Amino acid sequence: MIKKVDLDYKECRGGIMLKLFSFLGGVHPPTRKDITENYKIEEFPNAKIIYVSLLQHIGVMTEPLVTKGDIVKKGQKIAESKAFLSAPIHSPVSGKIIGIENHVFPVNGKVGTIIIENDFKEIEEVHEKMENYLEKTKDEVLTKIRDMGVVGQGGAAFPTHVKLNPPADTKIDTLIINGAECEPYLNSDNRVMIESAKEAVEGIKIMMHILKVQKCIIGIENNKKEAIESINAAINGDNRISVAILATKYPQGGEKQMIKAIMNRIVPVKKLPSEVGVVVQNISTAYEVYRAVILGKPLIERVVTISGKGLSAPKNLRVRIGTLFKDILEYCGFNEQITEKIVMGGPMMGIAQFTTEVPTVKGTSGILALTEEELNHCRSKSCISCGKCVDVCPMNLTPLMFAQYGRKEMWKEMADYNLMDCIECGSCAFICPSKRPLTEAIKIGKSKLRAMKK
Ligand code: SF4
Ligand code: SF4
Repeated sequence: MIKKVDLDYKECRGGIMLKLFSFLGGVHPPTRKDITENYKIEEFPNAKIIYVSLLQHIGVMTEPLVTKGDIVKKGQKIAESKAFLSAPIHSPVSGKIIGIENHVFPVNGKVGTIIIENDFKEIEEVHEKMENYLEKTKDEVLTKIRDMGVVGQGGAAFPTHVKLNPPADTKIDTLIINGAECEPYLNSDNRVMIESAKEAVEGIKIMMHILKVQKCIIGIENNKKEAIESINAAINGDNRISVAILATKYPQGGEKQMIKAIMNRIVPVKKLPSEVGVVVQNISTAYEVYRAVILGKPLIERVVTISGKGLSAPKNLRVRIGTLFKDILEYCGFNEQITEKIVMGGPMMGIAQFTTEVPTVKGTSGILALTEEELNHCRSKSCISCGKCVDVCPMNLTPLMFAQYGRKEMWKEMADYNLMDCIECGSCAFICPSKRPLTEAIKIGKSKLRAMKK
């Protein structure tokens, strides 16, 4: 059932969309967006040493194209893979390759990493522009997007050229753009919408040309009024594109939740959005598509929200890929004494970090330094069967059973309760009054089931 509430939104220039859309389930964690929402994007002063991980996306790891001692230009391709589900990597700075070795990686463990000594000369490799993209074929534009190393900016880092090329037997009629940014603290998409709306909307038009669709809906939560106005102004009367104002609720930005909320279409279990005629892309990805195609700029930097009470100067920064977290945190007034947890991404789905020696990757939307007070740690107690976790689950699952079966290592029973449909949004763990270790049980159960399949 879709929940629609009429909303008077006359102050919105262009007046393009006019209802408040939502989905069943979900939670309302403190948004804490106010910490950085009004801070303009600042350029981070580049670091002396840059650590570029050879894995920057979901898919096949890249191989280095350079060796120790090579001199590279900013924007020069330094790693790639021939595999379809991959994207090349470009040097974020000009300088010298001083090593290729395993280094800590923010997703987990260590991966091969190209280490570059920045010469601060910003000598740039120039790539061809494709301003006349409307005269180009779908494949030509997709190749350009791949060549510039564009991957999803929402956090998952799925190669954009793959997502824009759904199976030939599916008919796509709508492009949905995710501007919800529902994770607490994060404002990177919000600031891109406010400061670079024209470029992001041009990127949307490029994606519509590739997908051959005449309809695009941009979903933005109703707590981002400045972004809604800015995007509406940039749409500038193009009646193929509209903004859907979404209720502020977590996980509003989940693909399946957004498709249900905006279009009342249900993506079947284990299927992709293309199954219901939709492709979903993130708004900052649209901005990168614009830069790749119109400007010929590879993805070597991105906007990152640096926030949390462990910092005296939180910011929204444009940061080169491969910059160490410790350099960025120091720049933002990091207080190690009061910080309990460092997270890459948002607090609900982000990844806890055990060292600040990890570098930013293409999917780094935020770095949080969270204090004890923000984490609100409580000891886990027995389940009181209140059912709150079931009420909030946007995937209609029964999370309490995951904790029960997980404790007994009953993986098959977890699968019977459709564990693999879980999108790991963390809403159940957030709402649980007994602080049951639901997220841990879900992650462990999923990895056990995946291992059993091999
Ligand atoms: S079971 Fe999964 S999808 Fe459901 S609320 Fe918990 S984490 Fe989210
Ligand atoms: S919310 Fe927590 S206490 Fe309530 S049923 Fe779910 S697991 Fe049990």
